[in-house]
Amino acid sequence: MLGRFSRSYIKIDGIFADDTRLLIKLIIGLALFSEEIGDQQREDENNELEAQRSYDRALKLCAIIWLDRGFQNEIQQLPTTCLECEWNGSLKLYQKHRDQNHQQFTNCSICNEQVAQSNLHRHYLDEIHQEILSTFSLICTSNNSNLNHSQIQGTISNLLNSTKVRNNDIQRINRELNSHQYAISVMAQQWSSFKTIVQEINDHIYGIEINRNLLYQQFLILKENVEDAQATSFDGTLTWKITNFQEKRMDAISERKISIYSPSFYSSQTDYKMCLQLCLNGDTNTQGTHMSLFLVLMQDNHNTIFHWPFKFNVTFTLLNQLSSNNNQSISFWFNTTSSCFQHSTTDINIVDGTSTFLSLDLFEKNQNQYVQNDTMFIKVEIDFQAEKPSKLSILKHI
Ligand SMILES: [Zn+2]
Ligand SMILES: [Zn+2]
Repeated sequence: MLGRFSRSYIKIDGIFADDTRLLIKLIIGLALFSEEIGDQQREDENNELEAQRSYDRALKLCAIIWLDRGFQNEIQQLPTTCLECEWNGSLKLYQKHRDQNHQQFTNCSICNEQVAQSNLHRHYLDEIHQEILSTFSLICTSNNSNLNHSQIQGTISNLLNSTKVRNNDIQRINRELNSHQYAISVMAQQWSSFKTIVQEINDHIYGIEINRNLLYQQFLILKENVEDAQATSFDGTLTWKITNFQEKRMDAISERKISIYSPSFYSSQTDYKMCLQLCLNGDTNTQGTHMSLFLVLMQDNHNTIFHWPFKFNVTFTLLNQLSSNNNQSISFWFNTTSSCFQHSTTDINIVDGTSTFLSLDLFEKNQNQYVQNDTMFIKVEIDFQAEKPSKLSILKHI
């Protein structure tokens, strides 16, 4: 800092007013003088303690001006040339240039530690340096005549040894700190790979969960198929168990799925294959007013050829699960008089039944009798033996 002052000494002339200039020059002069005295005390008198005091005084004088921000800024901008090389630039950058290019080390005369020239002042404030210095001055100022030269040397050497031990401790602690930091970084890496593994396991479990759900859905479908197969009859009758009734009804009301089909059944082992078609919220003619139920004659490759015209009586019954005397039944002759049916040779299905199987009002009123545990039963019976009456199609309620 003093070096900077002395270099900018001449340049101050161009910047400040006369009185200020004079004052600044005076203070700088005093600071430089204190520094010179300090040098003398250190080198000629070998009195480090007094030398330090002189340096402190010089620095305090500098601080008087240095604390003034305006002055500081102007001084910092002054163009400067390096005394040791050809560098030039602002005073502000000069110290940095010196630190980077002309750093010099010196051994502290008190504690013998190697210190960069620019850090010397900070080093003087260091705890260990201060401790040695105060012990040293205590010994020097002591009037105890019992202390001889070798005792003083012994004390100093003890002090230096304890400093060495402390330095060793600091180095050991630093080494331990480094190894702990390394262990922490290893643990952090392990933790991150552990997290990755956990994530992979979670993904795997999620995949298994999806597969399990898919398998369960397939199982339900298979179960339904098996139940349907078990329910398949070959005598022209079928009791159709309609599970998940409410869901199927909502599907019909929302028109997501207007009709559902029963498992197929047969009139005999080698005869017609049939099933029921149920519209829980009515067909196109009775939407929202009735349930509609139809018998579907299924034409497929395994079926025998239809014999025209058909002659059989069909009875649909909605089972009352609380009282079997109150079943809802409807009976009719399967209508084969239509020319369309009689001349059908294609593989389309043939359907006949009733759009008005059951009034929805009636159903709502007695729903708890027809639907138990979300399940409804419809029975169909086909009578191949019955004699068809002369009227072509008769609907009658039993
Ligand atoms: Zn330089
Ligand atoms: Zn020192």
